[in-house]
Amino acid sequence: MKIVNGFDLMDYAVKHNYLLPSFNTTNLEMTYAIAKGLNAVNLPGYIQISSNNLRLSSPEAIVALTKDALKDSDVPISLHLDHGKSYEDVKRCVDAGFTSVMIDASHLPYEENIAATKKAVDYCHFYGVPVEAELGALKGKEEDIVNEADCKTDPKLVADFIERTGCDLLAVSIGNVHGLDMEPKIDIPLLKELSAVCKVPLVMHGGSGVPFEIIRETKNYGMLKINYGSDLRKAFITTFGKAYVQNNNAASVIELSLESVENVSQTAQSITKIINQQ
Ligand SMILES: [Zn+2]
Repeated sequence: MKIVNGFDLMDYAVKHNYLLPSFNTTNLEMTYAIAKGLNAVNLPGYIQISSNNLRLSSPEAIVALTKDALKDSDVPISLHLDHGKSYEDVKRCVDAGFTSVMIDASHLPYEENIAATKKAVDYCHFYGVPVEAELGALKGKEEDIVNEADCKTDPKLVADFIERTGCDLLAVSIGNVHGLDMEPKIDIPLLKELSAVCKVPLVMHGGSGVPFEIIRETKNYGMLKINYGSDLRKAFITTFGKAYVQNNNAASVIELSLESVENVSQTAQSITKIINQQ
């Protein structure tokens, strides 16, 4: 299949009552592994890469890899920019062929977040590409912010934010965290409040480490996209780390790379299957 447009992927998931996992890639191996994993369980999802990870390869290179990874794919998969850090990054990715985008301006003051998000939305919508925005901030790698209450998404701001930005997906901070170093505590009552006032689908970052029954429960309250980065990175790095420990003269990059694709793919498969268990 071709890389599927983000709006079409969202419609497909809503129609079939699926949660969409969004898996972070960095390189060729992880891109192939995610496509392989989603196809093995016959479920849709996203391949995503953050601005930070685009320091290694260009958006064009990731688009080319994704197209190649999807040539035998039978399930809808979109290519998403995760934590787009600037308007320029958003443009580069859309121009290269990404089919879904996040602009992350949540660290800015509220009005500046709105202005930056709106600017990205205007560009992306011209090309029919949906935009994910973030309101609130996550603990963990993303930032170094104050106390937990100040980080969480404020339900009173949601309707105004969506109305004025025109964003198509909203990433919320409800006790989820980035990385595996802190324990997430998902605030379901807050999620219920948010979903009551939010007319676009919700996104949870930091899916790794959140119990699967809670992930499945969030679907009842507007959740559509769940980001998974750490679990896949761990599967990738562990492959090479183990090999080095066993033999510090290990020399077969090709065998280890193939093994890493298999391990990352298995991780993606099990997550995708479990979050979509009825
Ligand atoms: Zn994130």
